[in-house]
Amino acid sequence: MIAGLLRDLASVQTTRQSKWGYARAADAIAGLTAPIESFLQPDGSLRKIAQIGPSSTRVVLEVLQTGASPTVERALADRGKRHEVEKTGVGRDTFLSRAEVLAALKNRRLRGPSLADYRGDLQMHSTYSDGSQTLEVIVETGIARRYEYAAVTDHSYGLPIARGVSMARLATQHRDIDRLNEIHAGRFRLIKGIEANILADGTVDMTPAERRGLEIVVAAPHSALRSSADQTARILKAVRTPGVHILGHPRGRKQGVRPGVNANWDRIFEAAARATVAVEIDGDPRRQDIDHELARRALDAGCIFSLDSDAHAAEEWAYAEIAIAHARLAHIPPERVINYWPLDFLLDWSANLRD
Ligand SMILES: [Zn+2]
Repeated sequence: MIAGLLRDLASVQTTRQSKWGYARAADAIAGLTAPIESFLQPDGSLRKIAQIGPSSTRVVLEVLQTGASPTVERALADRGKRHEVEKTGVGRDTFLSRAEVLAALKNRRLRGPSLADYRGDLQMHSTYSDGSQTLEVIVETGIARRYEYAAVTDHSYGLPIARGVSMARLATQHRDIDRLNEIHAGRFRLIKGIEANILADGTVDMTPAERRGLEIVVAAPHSALRSSADQTARILKAVRTPGVHILGHPRGRKQGVRPGVNANWDRIFEAAARATVAVEIDGDPRRQDIDHELARRALDAGCIFSLDSDAHAAEEWAYAEIAIAHARLAHIPPERVINYWPLDFLLDWSANLRD
């Protein structure tokens, strides 16, 4: 919450320097591994935290002492930006800080899936699209993390802005994957995937024949994410598209940037449950999409889930922990999470969904 307030405050600053100061403080707080309360000293002051200056410290103390920040409220009201900031949901509520993620992973009272039993990540990007990790690095990182599998889901050709892969490049990638799978047989398995793009009208950008050549199709929205218009029909259409396995970062929200899709999520979750399409919890810290509150509604609707890092680099695989933390807070049973399924079971499910 405090990091969110500091980001709100950054968004209404008029100088670049103060914008940067508050944003840096927000990042520092979001990245703390201990709860912010533990920095409070007996005399009511705050223990020094790197990157957090006196103005940000004042906001932190206000929140710790009163649960709210009059400083931030005043700044937002003064700039007349209160409405806009609320609409974009900048930084508030359901984004977990690093400390909250670690607490959720450790908390034995939560009945959700554990980090130790997680078998493999089902959304990540390689150098074939906008990632910086080669397929070899993906295999090495997966083995180092004791995973059994990982799906390579580069962006499809419908998203040139993220260097989407052409079908010809995809064929080359599949030959590379076959070669690596042969070398590491019985030890680690790369899964042939794609992150297809959900167009504005709900069409998924690859043809049925093209989708058939893939083991995991993640369909995700990347446009019209700032519109407040209802987009239930768009997402429903994507979920009902044969050959789609995972609804990726369903809202397309980004912390401090955009609120993402506005839709009747309960209807979408019902349709996903009926089609046995997995709803993703994307662990990218700026996405956290869907979060534990929405995930609980998806659970009630009978959905299955995919918990993914959306890693573009080897260092980002740990983002899966953020997704697992949300799933634990939503009390999702591990058997409802496809990343906890044995490989054979996972591949059977994926083959059944192919049209
Ligand atoms: Zn995406």
